[in-house]
Amino acid sequence: MSTVSNLKAVLGSFFHTPVYGGFELLERTLIELDDDGVIERITRPDDAAYAEHVAAARTAGEREPGSFMELAPDTYMLPGFVDLHVHAPQWPQAGVALDEPLNVWLDQRTFPLEARFADPEFAYTVGADLARTFLSRGTTTVLYFASAHLEGSYAVSRACAEAGQRAIVGKVVMDDPAANHDFYRDATPEQALVDTEEFLTRVETLDAQSRAADPRFAGAYAAVTPRFIPSCTDEALAGLGQIAAAHDAYIQSHCNEGQWEHGVAIERFGKTDAEALASFGLLGPKSIMAHCTFMNDGDTALFAETGTVVAHCPISNAYFANSACPVRRMHEAGVRIGMGTDISGGFSPSMYDDIRQAVMTSRMLEEGVDALVPQERRGAGRPSRISAPEALYLATKGGAEGLGLATGSFEVGRAFDAQAIDTRRPYADLTGFGVFDEPGDKLARILYLATPDNIRQVWCQGKLVIER
Ligand SMILES: [Zn+2]
Repeated sequence: MSTVSNLKAVLGSFFHTPVYGGFELLERTLIELDDDGVIERITRPDDAAYAEHVAAARTAGEREPGSFMELAPDTYMLPGFVDLHVHAPQWPQAGVALDEPLNVWLDQRTFPLEARFADPEFAYTVGADLARTFLSRGTTTVLYFASAHLEGSYAVSRACAEAGQRAIVGKVVMDDPAANHDFYRDATPEQALVDTEEFLTRVETLDAQSRAADPRFAGAYAAVTPRFIPSCTDEALAGLGQIAAAHDAYIQSHCNEGQWEHGVAIERFGKTDAEALASFGLLGPKSIMAHCTFMNDGDTALFAETGTVVAHCPISNAYFANSACPVRRMHEAGVRIGMGTDISGGFSPSMYDDIRQAVMTSRMLEEGVDALVPQERRGAGRPSRISAPEALYLATKGGAEGLGLATGSFEVGRAFDAQAIDTRRPYADLTGFGVFDEPGDKLARILYLATPDNIRQVWCQGKLVIER
């Protein structure tokens, strides 16, 4: 949609998490944007120039309709979410066959579905619907796995760019004939590398052309994307590490997801999954690794040293990871962490659902789950819980910092990516009925209870992309 592109100033109340651990409410605050949709100035009511800046923004709004917006008293802005792990071709499968074992889920459902991205038109249709769905749930930045097809993957990049969503997309590499179906894999390692380079170049061009046409274009990026170690040859893994280094490109893959993947790397290389990825040049500050549930202390230290980012996918983990991700332990060890929906290992396109599951899973990890085990041995044996504001940080600024992109919070110099939450909807009242009026209570009710109906408008890079 992308209709309004001249928004210059917003007056209202904003919740965000500029640092991990707490939250901040900017009440009746004026946020002003530059021509590129980046936050240029923030004026709070206790600022001496507040009245003057608000009056100037209002006057400008009368001259130039659409440039000034004032939020209703019960509406709060949250930053747009950053989703660090999604499989675009799996969107039609969300919620399907989750009772099957992983190998059945993949072989009978997922791979035949992903193979349909051989048709770029189908890929565009699915990608466009998914991008719009994410935007409607408040997610403005997404790191996507597309498929093993060059054209189908590029169709996803185009669909996101046209929907007004900031997207980092990867053409998936899965080239090992012994590990993949003939109907869905790269023809050879060489072809996988050629296609990856071609994909990077095309997305760079898409980005440059789109920015030239629109100063508020949110950005199109490409990621080098080995599906995971078990589906790739050594030759492809090494080549992808070299391509990523040469292009200074993002890298994404899966790491230490479940018991099986964990075991495969040890059997093949005598190393953990994390160590094997590092040996191919695939860990680093622009590497985002999904799941990371089976992390020993050495793996955790390796991630912290290399600056590698974890994409925590708590809903998906409940189905396929055979364990709970030790988010708090990794955070305390200095690992960078964001959050992902993992469509469709995770069924929900809403980061609200993953924020809730991240909190619940962390509590279960700390306390344990089997009442037949004595209490002193039931849990992880160390503090493991995270709070809802901590999960919000992972879903916003944590993900943005992981990608090195200036978004995820309401601070000067960051893109204005925001969702307006109306807490007074007829069937989704989040107000607290005048009883729970403290900022922490208000934010908790939004995080735990917000429905799509509460998300009335969404902006990406200062452009209106959703209006209900
Ligand atoms: Zn995944």
